[in-house]
Amino acid sequence: MVHNRGVRSVGESWVERDAAVVWHGFTQMAAYADNAPLVIERAEGRELIDADGRRYLDAISSLWVNTLGHGVPELNAALVAQAGKVAHSTMLGNGNTVVVELAEALAAVVPVDEPHFLFAADGAVAVEQALKIAFQYWVNRGVAGRGSFLALGDAYHGDTIGSLSLGDGGVFSAVFEPLCFPVVRTPGYADPGWAAKACAVIDAHAGTLAAVVLEPLVQGAAGMLCASADDVRKVGEACREAGVLLICDEVATGFGRTGTLFASEQCGLRPDLLCLGKGITGGYLAMSATVASGEVFSAFLGPDLGPQTFFHGHSYGGNALAAAVALEHLRLIGEWEVLASVRERAAQFATLLEERVAGRAGVRAVRQRGLMIGVELEPPGPGLRWGRRVCAGAVERGVLLRPLGDVVVIMPPLTITGGEVVRVIDALDTALGDVVGR
Ligand SMILES: *Cc1c(COP(=O)(O)O)cnc(C)c1O
Repeated sequence: MVHNRGVRSVGESWVERDAAVVWHGFTQMAAYADNAPLVIERAEGRELIDADGRRYLDAISSLWVNTLGHGVPELNAALVAQAGKVAHSTMLGNGNTVVVELAEALAAVVPVDEPHFLFAADGAVAVEQALKIAFQYWVNRGVAGRGSFLALGDAYHGDTIGSLSLGDGGVFSAVFEPLCFPVVRTPGYADPGWAAKACAVIDAHAGTLAAVVLEPLVQGAAGMLCASADDVRKVGEACREAGVLLICDEVATGFGRTGTLFASEQCGLRPDLLCLGKGITGGYLAMSATVASGEVFSAFLGPDLGPQTFFHGHSYGGNALAAAVALEHLRLIGEWEVLASVRERAAQFATLLEERVAGRAGVRAVRQRGLMIGVELEPPGPGLRWGRRVCAGAVERGVLLRPLGDVVVIMPPLTITGGEVVRVIDALDTALGDVVGR
């Protein structure tokens, strides 16, 4: 394929040009061009527009990051205004006014006591930072032997080696297993007894666990597996009683997806460490944050350059452009009453899914918390790729969906309208009919 040494021949399509030079994540590049990828050129509202001018409702929020739609005038204005001041300045040993403003605004709403924010650019890094902070927290406090982590079955926390170690592997990450550190694993949300089992193990391992890590309410990448708020709360309480730190990974559930600003709120949790990412800038710019409680933070105070210091940081952590957009985004969530709209649209989805999707042949389960929805298909045999085919059918009808195996994920922007909800269900209904039968 690499025959032209960077010189393009006339008439090459965007897909050909893309496949010649771009390496796409989670994608087999030998098959990339044959799987009808969309090459997006611009967007309007909740629609992506490809290089040929075709429009697609972004029903996966550009892989779970977009919240208010694309090209939001207020966010665009915040970005431009900040660009006129400064795009980026380092957060290592120095500060930036807009990052201070963002941290102040977030401090008022995150479910963490006396919160302190360590900014980075990716969700996986927010988790990686939380891991290292939890580990060093016990070292700094002079408590020996508290170096292990409890994570749940089916967990996903990102793709760096640390976050991958917490994740429950599966076929995609099996090759990296020799690089990963071992964790204490108890069942995930697919097991109705998961909370009791986790609580028992937390109790038994109290003296060796640094922290418990979980995705409150929804294990997203596992295929939208859902837990009850009550069960999650019980595990949080078990951590408190055992004196084990609780790390809530709200990279996916944060910023309104489940109907509250954070899923931890519904579970009555006040985690010691909270991981934020994805929706934090409304889907505009790469930003994430690890939020530490005052109790955790203060364990790192000590003499200048002393061993209590957290020696960790990323070049683009606390990027000013991202901070300006995140600050305006947080204001808009309030001003536009986005959470009320999420709950309304979630109820509409629930009704339509019940009427037209759940219980039909080929559908094993429909799972939903707010605007995080998984429709699990039940193909009659292996290798039929129903998830992939149903989503391809929806894309043909102008609704962008992407499966996790045989789970069709619906995770639209939080500002989706009633008419657009119907458009998603119509496309899914028709695509299901074509692939699964009617
Ligand atoms: C997406 C995700 C991550 C990783 O975030 P990236 O920005 O992709 O690195 C971590 N945890 C959860 C729960 C996620 O859904």
